[in-house]
Amino acid sequence: MKSNQQSSQVDLIIVGAGMVGVTLATALAPSGMRILVLEQRAGDLSAFGMSVRDQQEAGFDPRVSALTCASQQILTAVGAWEVMQSYRMSPYTEMDVWDGEGTGHIHFSARELHEPVLGHIVENRVTLAGLYSVLLQHENVQLMTGVEVKAVNGEAMKTVTLSNGTVVQTSLVVAADGALSKTRQMAGVPMLEWDYGHHAIVTTVKTEQPHLKTAWQRFTDDGPLALLPLKSDDGDHYCSIVWSTSPAHAKALMALDSEAFCEALGQAFEWRLGKILHSDTRAVFPLRQRHAKYYVKSGFAAVGDAAHTIHPLAGQGVNLGLLDAAQLAETLIAAYKRGEDIGALRVLQRYQRVRQSENIKMSAAMEGFKRLFNEQQPIVRLARNMGMNLLDRMKPLKNHIVMDAMGLSGNLPEIAQRPIQE
Ligand SMILES: Cc1cc2nc3c(=O)[nH]c(=O)nc-3n(C[C@H](O)[C@H](O)[C@H](O)COP(=O)(O)OP(=O)(O)OC[C@H]3O[C@@H](n4cnc5c(N)ncnc54)[C@H](O)[C@@H]3O)c2cc1C
Repeated sequence: MKSNQQSSQVDLIIVGAGMVGVTLATALAPSGMRILVLEQRAGDLSAFGMSVRDQQEAGFDPRVSALTCASQQILTAVGAWEVMQSYRMSPYTEMDVWDGEGTGHIHFSARELHEPVLGHIVENRVTLAGLYSVLLQHENVQLMTGVEVKAVNGEAMKTVTLSNGTVVQTSLVVAADGALSKTRQMAGVPMLEWDYGHHAIVTTVKTEQPHLKTAWQRFTDDGPLALLPLKSDDGDHYCSIVWSTSPAHAKALMALDSEAFCEALGQAFEWRLGKILHSDTRAVFPLRQRHAKYYVKSGFAAVGDAAHTIHPLAGQGVNLGLLDAAQLAETLIAAYKRGEDIGALRVLQRYQRVRQSENIKMSAAMEGFKRLFNEQQPIVRLARNMGMNLLDRMKPLKNHIVMDAMGLSGNLPEIAQRPIQE
């Protein structure tokens, strides 16, 4: 892989070296396409993995993702998972969800599904370290850091002007530059978006009792509170939290000192893991639902958060993004092998057809959950609690739902599917 060098013509430009953009680049690389990846953050990515190792020695990163089995499969297929395993990752085997305002409770177990795990809690920087180490091995991928797109002109063959003055010809520009994607805005793609009315506080906490490799989620009146298990050498007492609540409550929680925050968290979590003994620095994120009206135009495609963002309550955001990357790679490689123009609208629509409907389904489910658990009407609460308890007892339906959420069933691109055992 070459870095920060001039290039005049490539097959495609991927804007954004986040988890989704780099997954796309590494999935496409074996096809031999000439790929340029642009990242606005400056820095030498060849040193990234080493610095993550040092950071992991020092502590946990509050930005984690619950990666599904489908994501694990994609990251394995591109070669990143093996590298990621040399860092700290936290498998979880149980999931416990309950209604804080009633008796509703549901438990998911890997054992019931005859699976080794339900998923892995992984620090985002670990996923990036794995992906960057693979990216660096591909000669046909160029990476430019500290660079943005300034202008895109032309129809079939696009002329892209970068902030460092480089001019590049390409037939396809992929927006992988996150929720506020400038590339998507430049392409004039309209978004449907609204505020969830939630802010999410994230941090790492130490609990009195071990987490039992369980992802815990309590639905409170204000929003869902998740404690996600982190692997540690001293008996599994660390969890990453995502506490989604009203903006006013989040502001009040952010203003508390560490001791008072631990007390408030313990109470909100019903002391299920005993006292909260310690909390790291907190960060807060406003949560918005966003969905691009369309993901593709002639010579343009959007993937990951650049195309859609959803509530983190089911931990699906980046998992959907990795499926976008896998599907787009599959579509483009097939077209490239047939000698088709990879920027042609008819080619890109094949990607959109599959992914847009899947992503909309998940967004609608998250919106439904959020509304259901916000509902104050006693009759709705009663029905919700009864429904949860009923579902908990209906093993086949429950297992079907969790298999879908884990990415073990449904409409999956080939590299997200497990190889069939002989
Ligand atoms: C509180 C919280 C908890 C979450 N938990 C989970 C979870 O458990 N599971 C899950 O699946 N998802 C989770 N998500 C969602 C997940 O974090 C996102 O879906 C994921 O980070 C999106 O990845 P991405 O690569 O599309 O975008 P990003 O991670 O935003 O990466 C975009 C990249 O593009 C770069 N960039 C931006 N603008 C430009 C530009 N103009 N030019 C060049 N480069 C640019 C950025 O620097 C960055 O490197 C959570 C989100 C939040 C807020």
